[in-house]
This record gives sequence, structure tokens and C-alpha cells, in this order.
Amino acid sequence: MLLKPGSRGSLVALIQLGLERSGFASGPKDGIYGPKTTNAVIEFQKNHGLTPDGIAGPQTMLKIRPYLVGYTTYTIKPGDTLYNISQRLYSTVPLIENANPGLNSLNLTPGTNIIVPYNFSLTPTDIQFSSLLCELICEGLAVRYPFIYLTTIGRSAFGKAIPALRMGKGEKRVFVNASHHANEWITTPIVLKYVEEYAKAVVNAENLGGANSEYMFDINTLYIVPMVNPDGVDLVTGAIDKASSQYSYAKKISENYPQISFPQGWKANLQGTDLNLNYPALWERARQIKFEQGFTSPAPRDYVGPEPLSAPESRAVLNYTRQNNFNITISFHTQGEEIYWQFENYAGDEARRLGIEMANASGYELTSPEEGSSYAGYKDWFLMEYRRPGYTIEAGKGINPLPLYDFWRIYPQCAAIITQSLIFEE
Ligand SMILES: [Zn+2]
Repeated sequence: MLLKPGSRGSLVALIQLGLERSGFASGPKDGIYGPKTTNAVIEFQKNHGLTPDGIAGPQTMLKIRPYLVGYTTYTIKPGDTLYNISQRLYSTVPLIENANPGLNSLNLTPGTNIIVPYNFSLTPTDIQFSSLLCELICEGLAVRYPFIYLTTIGRSAFGKAIPALRMGKGEKRVFVNASHHANEWITTPIVLKYVEEYAKAVVNAENLGGANSEYMFDINTLYIVPMVNPDGVDLVTGAIDKASSQYSYAKKISENYPQISFPQGWKANLQGTDLNLNYPALWERARQIKFEQGFTSPAPRDYVGPEPLSAPESRAVLNYTRQNNFNITISFHTQGEEIYWQFENYAGDEARRLGIEMANASGYELTSPEEGSSYAGYKDWFLMEYRRPGYTIEAGKGINPLPLYDFWRIYPQCAAIITQSLIFEE
């Protein structure tokens, strides 16, 4: 979608972030392409040898991109030192060294291409997310920290990549996922921020939330899917063009459910299937309950789908789980400050023990869903299939989508929960 004066949504916020990071701040990163943003784009264009038309077309986006992935590339010239490169390109010597393992900083070879990370934290915590921003941050993290591996576990119903990150070299495999539900997208920056803080702690040999990061890195492999539902998130945050067929498709679905606000109340994927009711864990019972509640067709939430795993997103997460045989899984949702750990009594003492530690560390309440109220979720399926600890975390408190100003209140609670799973001894 072409972004220009008058545009709105999370893709505009992404441009505003790029402008701010490149020194052309446009005011609040509110996702509104007004006069301030237009002027900032014009200044940015003049500075980068582009036609200063104030429209964020493909050429402008290409020049903004390095500030979103947080690095640029550079070819070493005779007489360069890492220090003078870092000074010229707004980096630091350690950042360059970390991103270029094997580079001999005392004997630079002219002609060598290197990665130069910019000296700022990559994961923004003050703008609305889109699937594009999630992909850019994932790429940036994997480039900045070469021990982070980026893969794609599948595609959404409308063809968007579902990225996954992996880090650590241990036997214990911990899986963290976020944004199964579209209007719970704040969980995406939460888990990405955790990956970044964890990676930073590892390279600096520092503790993370009081835990030894190198120890955690040695005994665990952490797998992260930061956005299970990219189509849904893009709908909620306004990254889908209102003139597109995707948008009208969702709008039409929502008209059958006028009691749910659109698009803010949207939780499902863009086919109108609630991904956390689409797993094969007593799915027929979930279907019966939700049909009785009136969710009998594609809906903004609570429609279980025509059959278990009908949605490509839940299928991708299930396949990824089977491929990697996780020991512990944590699914982030909002809201309620609760930790769900049980399903039909499949969870055992070990799951209860880790659950108690998570609850103590976060201040969240360890709860079981009321008898017969929860079926067909990812955690439910994982517990049934593997009988290993699997949790649904209801992060934060308020009305979904939780506002961004809650980020720094919620983040430490969620970070503590992930860290507990990494220091947990089975
Ligand atoms: Zn949820």
C-alpha cells in the first residue's frame, strides 16, 4: 500500500520510526501521515538524493529500511579502523564485532563487506506493530546477533510469512509464541524485546532478570514465534488497505457480528477462524459450546473453523511443535494477569511446580479454566499430546487491544515468566 499524506495506520507509524531513527523526527509516532510527517519525509528525501515529493514510495522505503532493520553494510577501505567506521555510521566497535564473527579488527582487509549495526535498541515499544515491522525486527535481530537463527514456519491464510527465531545451544527446548489473537498484538513486541534483551545479555556476559544468561543459553534452545496471526494483526492495526479485497472480506464477516467492534475486537485470522480454538484437543466440544453461543460461521472471534487445523496458521504452529519436540511451551495472550496451566488433568506435578514459580516471579495468578470452558487451544493440544508443561499467559489487565503505554508495566512480568522457564530444572 502506498503511504502518502492522509494515510493512517501501523505502516505510517513504521515510517515515523524510521524517520526518527535516521534523525528526521516527525513528532509523535501516532500512525497519522499529517503535515509534520510529510515535512520530515521531504527533508529525508532531500538528504538521501530522492525527489522530495513527501510521498513514501518504494525508493523512499528502500532508504528508510536500514533504520528499521537496524543495520547497514559497508565495504572496508584502506586506512579504515573499526573505531572510525563506528563513529561515521552511528555504531560502536562491540556492535560491529558481534555482528561480524571472525573479523580481525586489528587487520582489516580493504574490500571486505561488513555489517554495521546502528547504536539503538531494535525492538520499538512505542508504536503499533504490523507483520512487516515484525519481519524487519526478526531480520535485524538475526543479523545483529549471528547466534540467532531466523526461519519461516509457514504462511498465513493470505500468504504472509510467519517468522520464527531460535537461539541457544541446550537440550531443553522452550517454545514461546505470541499473537495467536489479533487484538492481543502487544504480546509481539513483548517477546521480541525479550529476545533482544536476552541476546544483549549473552554477548555482554550479563545477568538477565537476575539469571545467568550464559547458563540459560547453554542449557536451553529457545524458539520464538512472535506473530502467529500476521493477517489479523495487520487488520487490527490498520496495515491492510481499506480498499483491498482482504479488508472488505473481513468487514463483511464482521457485519454478521455487529456486537463486536471492528476492527478493534478482531481476534481471529482473516478467514474468521479463531486460531486458539482450531487445535485438535476436544475440538468438537469447543465447537458445540461456541455454536450454542452463536458463533456458527466465520467471525471476528470464537468461530472454531470448519474442522481442526483448518487454518494454515494453527497448522504451521502444530507442525513446528512436532518438528522440534518442545519440553515447555508458553503462549502469550492478553489480558487478565493469569497463568493457565491445566487441561483435562493432563498437566502433572512438574507443570504445577513451574507454574508456581512463574506465578511468584510475575505476580500473576496460577489458574485452571473452569470445568468445561476451554478446549481446542494450543496449550490444550500440547498438554494432551505431550503431557509436558504448556501454559497460556494472559498478560496485563484492561481492554484488548491493551494500550502501548502499558508496555513497560507488562514487559517485566512476561520476561520473568520466560526466564523462569529457562532456569527451570526438570
Ligand atoms: Zn487470546
